[in-house]
Parts: sequence; C-alpha cells; structure tokens
Amino acid sequence: MPYQHILIAVDLTDECHPVVQRALAVAASSGARASLVHIIEPMAMAFGGDVPMDLSLLQQQQFDQARERLESFTAQYPQLSSDQRHLVYGQPRQEIHRLVSEQGCDLIVVGSHGRHGLALLLGSTANDVLHGAPCDVLAVRLKKHA
Ligand code: AMP
Repeated sequence: MPYQHILIAVDLTDECHPVVQRALAVAASSGARASLVHIIEPMAMAFGGDVPMDLSLLQQQQFDQARERLESFTAQYPQLSSDQRHLVYGQPRQEIHRLVSEQGCDLIVVGSHGRHGLALLLGSTANDVLHGAPCDVLAVRLKKHA
C-alpha cells in the first residue's frame, strides 16, 4: 500500500533539508500528500515547568520568530502550501503523534544523528517519536557536519 499522507518533522535548522527532500521524494513516488511540522517547546518546559514569572510575552516572541523561520525554511518547497505547514506548541513526541492522528498521516519522517554512547542514553527526538508512534517512522540519517 503506498503512503497517503506523510508528516515531516523539522527543527528548522539547515541540517533538516535532506529530511524534507527525502520525504518529498517518497511522497512524489507514492502520490502522497505531505505536511510539515515544527514544534515549539514552551519556555516553561525548558525551565522545568516551574517559573515564577509571566512568560507570555517571551512566548509570543518565540512563536513569531519560529513563524519567520518556518517561512524562510519552507520558501524553497512550493509543494508545501501554508495549510500543509504546522507550527505547534508542546512536547515534540506528543504533538507529532497528536497531529498524525488528527491529520490521518501514515508516515512520519524525522532526521537522525545516529547517536551512540552517552548521547544515545540521553535520547533523541527520532527515538522519542518512534516510541508509541501510531504509524511508520522513517529516520533519515543526517551527516555529522551537514
Ligand atoms: P534531535 O534528536 O534533536 O537531534 O532531532 C532529530 C530530528 O527530530 C530532527 O532532524 C527533526 O526531524 C526532528 N525534530 C527535532 N526537534 C524538532 C522540533 N522541535 N519539531 C519538529 N521536529 C523536530
């Protein structure tokens, strides 16, 4: 069965372009729709969830910056129209899985650094997304110094 709807997860670094290119190639060869998502991790999460100050202004700035970065990151992919680009607040694994169910995706494409040793123990987004994923996951190997 060819894939029908592919979700591409990106951290908006240049390193992620091969992930998008591979996903779009798979989408083209299977006649699938493609969507792209970037998850913004809320400031409170980065500080351990317990911050005695109002972060709403900072979070708005964080969101605005991410929207600009998303626009410039996706400028070279006219195949991804604005309704196929998602910017979501939250924890990457949780939000990617939620979007997969909401959008009826059947493949998630992420980048993988092929970590080992301590870095592997600490985990990676690719590993995290794989656990409990409601569909197939393709991990595109990223070059070390891409
Ligand atoms: P990392 O484990 O952080 O090195 O990220 C590996 C891959 O996970 C990246 O190449 C992206 O495909 C995906 N990823 C990482 N962070 C995010 C994020 N905030 N939103 C969406 N995808 C992400």
